[in-house]
Amino acid sequence: MKTIALIAHDHQKQKMVDWASKNKDVLSRFNLCGTGHTAKLVSDATGLKVKAYLSGPLGGDQQIGAHISEKLIDIVIFFWDPLESQPHDPDVKALLRIAAVYDIPIATTRTTADCIIDSISKK
Ligand code: PGA
Repeated sequence: MKTIALIAHDHQKQKMVDWASKNKDVLSRFNLCGTGHTAKLVSDATGLKVKAYLSGPLGGDQQIGAHISEKLIDIVIFFWDPLESQPHDPDVKALLRIAAVYDIPIATTRTTADCIIDSISKK
């Protein structure tokens, strides 16, 4: 079973909860994980099991990046905040970089996340 990582910055969390709730049936066919608060919010909203790593600012993005490099994460949905800088901006850049290095699908907008869900729901 493939693994999807979910990450949302604070002002993007409602968007993530809405998106995950809408796509709950497809997401239920995958292993799910995410940064601490995002994982809990999605799990609470959908009832799906979401393995929680550390919160993003405390190293969660780096944990997810490490798992990408170990080929343990296949897809990332990452709703970062384009309007506000973050204390862990270097980690955000590192995560985007490692996803590109390993050529995994990484959605940073809801539209792209919908495209990925459309694609994987047909498999
Ligand atoms: P959080 O981390 O899900 O623990 O809030 C997300 C982030 O800010 O990268």
